[in-house]
Amino acid sequence: MPITGRATHLVVSPTTEGSSAITETATHESRLLALSPDLLGAAGFDGYFKQTNPAWSSLGYSDEQLRATPYIDFVHPSDREGVGATVAELAQGGRVDEFSCRLRRADGEYRWLLWSAHGSPEDECVYIAGKDITDRRQLEQELARRAERLERTNVELQEFAYIASHDLSEPLRMVTSYLELLQRRYAGQLDDTADEFIGFAVGGARRMKALIDDLLTYSRVGSHEAGTADVDLGEVVADVLQILQPAIAESGAEVEVVEPLPCVLGDAVQLGQLVQNLIANAVKFRPPERPPRIVVSALDEVDGTRLTVADDGIGIDPDKHEQIFKMFARLHAREQYDGTGIGLALCRRIAERHGGRIWVESNLGAGSAFQVWFPRP
Ligand code: ADP
Repeated sequence: MPITGRATHLVVSPTTEGSSAITETATHESRLLALSPDLLGAAGFDGYFKQTNPAWSSLGYSDEQLRATPYIDFVHPSDREGVGATVAELAQGGRVDEFSCRLRRADGEYRWLLWSAHGSPEDECVYIAGKDITDRRQLEQELARRAERLERTNVELQEFAYIASHDLSEPLRMVTSYLELLQRRYAGQLDDTADEFIGFAVGGARRMKALIDDLLTYSRVGSHEAGTADVDLGEVVADVLQILQPAIAESGAEVEVVEPLPCVLGDAVQLGQLVQNLIANAVKFRPPERPPRIVVSALDEVDGTRLTVADDGIGIDPDKHEQIFKMFARLHAREQYDGTGIGLALCRRIAERHGGRIWVESNLGAGSAFQVWFPRP
């Protein structure tokens, strides 16, 4: 700050013989003091303000009130001890650059101020400069509250995952196995309608299991930080193709991987889940009359890497490009294409956990190209 404590003092009590140079300096300095949005002042060792600049009027007190009241009276009762100790230190000639306390305004509201201060034993005062940080603190507190709420939500989701895995899966396993037993033992012995009903029940129980498993995977991604290992996407894709081999063979899909694929920083398991969902979808959402062709490639960009999984399948209406990444969002009847509607929501979560993003470029009937962008480490 260009204004020194001593200059402030000069304005208050000019002791020189009216030398024009000093008067001019004093005028400049008093104008600068008037301009400052920060609270500038000189607090005397006697406990009273000696000088305050016009910014203090933001507290709603007149100059006279400020001058006539012990300055500690303006300080929030809980902050007085800290202020007293700091002033005692400053009185020895010390300085502080980051000290905060609350001051009471004339209307009773307290404002947080961040001070830098310098004590001057020869002037018998402490020179202070304070910035009102109330709004910033409120914003920080709001952010902290939101982070805490988010954290709580995550914990709740984790608890849900636990309930889903232990409390729901277990009875579901029992329902499924007895239904399957019924199906095996009594198929053909009851009438056709009974066989059909048992078939529906078995199908429903299996779907519920798929949903629970997917939800579990989704909530686990939320509760674990993405790792920070160097993950070779080439290896990830190779592993996924192995896992999906039966579905690929069954559909007759042709999969081309444009080598080399890059490495990204992250979690190999989660990246595997992401790639697996995209390739499985590319296999699944094909026209019934022909096998799909799928290309996995990567593009080096200025600030990151882009992985693309492209297919020549049924494509997606551009109006639905955002919707498909939402939880449970599906564009087709289950009889047409099976699924839980969680896969792409999971992919988005994993991409975002890796500091990246995911989107699709597609048109109905013209194939889809899913793009995943990862930032450069
Ligand atoms: P699911 O595959 O279980 O239905 P997803 O979340 O993986 O759920 O996908 C959501 C929806 O997005 C799908 O139901 C489908 O309508 C659409 N979709 C996803 N991938 C493709 C694709 N490669 N081609 C066409 N549509 C797709």
